[in-house]
Amino acid sequence: MVDYSHNINQANDYACLALERIYKEGLCPNPDIYKLWYIYYSKTNKAINEAIDNIAKKQKKISEEQCKEIYKKYIDNDQSQDIVREVGNQIQDKIAEILNAIKDVRTATNDYSGTLKDVTGKIEGTSSINDFKDAILSLMDETKTIIEKNHKLEKELDASASTMSKMQQNLETVRKEAITDGLTGLANRKYFDKEIQKVAKESEENNTIFSLLMIDIDHFKSFNDNFGHQVGDQVLRLVARTLTDGVKGKDITARFGGEEFAIILPETNIKAAAMVAESLRKAVAAKDLVNRQTGDKLGRITMSVGVSQYVPGEDTEKLIERADAALYTAKHNGRNQVASAPTGKAIKS
Ligand code: GH3
Ligand code: MG
Ligand code: MG
Repeated sequence: MVDYSHNINQANDYACLALERIYKEGLCPNPDIYKLWYIYYSKTNKAINEAIDNIAKKQKKISEEQCKEIYKKYIDNDQSQDIVREVGNQIQDKIAEILNAIKDVRTATNDYSGTLKDVTGKIEGTSSINDFKDAILSLMDETKTIIEKNHKLEKELDASASTMSKMQQNLETVRKEAITDGLTGLANRKYFDKEIQKVAKESEENNTIFSLLMIDIDHFKSFNDNFGHQVGDQVLRLVARTLTDGVKGKDITARFGGEEFAIILPETNIKAAAMVAESLRKAVAAKDLVNRQTGDKLGRITMSVGVSQYVPGEDTEKLIERADAALYTAKHNGRNQVASAPTGKAIKS
């Protein structure tokens, strides 16, 4: 989700710049295009600015198609809404079909019970063999009909069960997609925001400690500039994998945004968390990077880490801020290192 915490004057500036640029590029100022350019001028998503600037370097004008592509990749990468709507419609259709099939069988069952009564009446009052024959024939006829109807219902219920199970799988995929970062497969920011609240609540309730790591790749901009965005993406995936491989199952590793990652370490104090951070830092720094397409060696990358331990009563935003400040210290002190935020008194805001 984009953070639009701009004041009205800033927002006015970005809006004017966006519209001017849209006009200059000869683009149609529809809401998506406007949103893309507003984000571009407000510099709220570095990856978008990079993608646009890269195109602008090579071409005089950016096409509507290219804008759409960037929009899809960086803004509208959550297609879960559409799938949920689609599944909702499928469920309604299926329910209507089943109800119809049941109604059909119910009518047939009523007819059948009528026939049974008729036949009983006829048999009771007669000794004629022909009457018996007629009664049995009509009974067979009706029995055949009801067997067919029941058979149809069975088939429809079978088909419905398989559609329902497909829909269940769809929903499961959607649920996973909604909380996963598309590039790295890690938990996304939305999930992280929810999870950190949950862990803080649990820590208050159970009187346990937890810590947070904020991780930022060093000089990643120049890495991208040297080797290109796609290679950069490949490295982000590698870092993501190295991080998940280096932590325990209950730890929550998320892509916080761009080239930043966050890890929640439940039941871990700051000392232990700093040790985890240090081992992750080493693991990433030890990787020899190779361009998968060309096999070229790309050298190594490093990362800086800020660590903070939850202080009971503290807002999770404050906890993140403190880890961020420690991260800043790590950067300031020369990067490729871990810094811990001071722990101590409860900080309420
Ligand atoms: P520092 O050591 O101070 O962190 O320097 P830096 O260059 O890593 O930091 P800066 O914030 O200036 O640049 C971050 C860069 O991360 C900008 C952008 O090129 C890159 N980046 C962000 N998101 C993505 C992405 O999804 N893919 C790729 N390839 N690069 C990304
Ligand atoms: Mg950064
Ligand atoms: Mg960085």
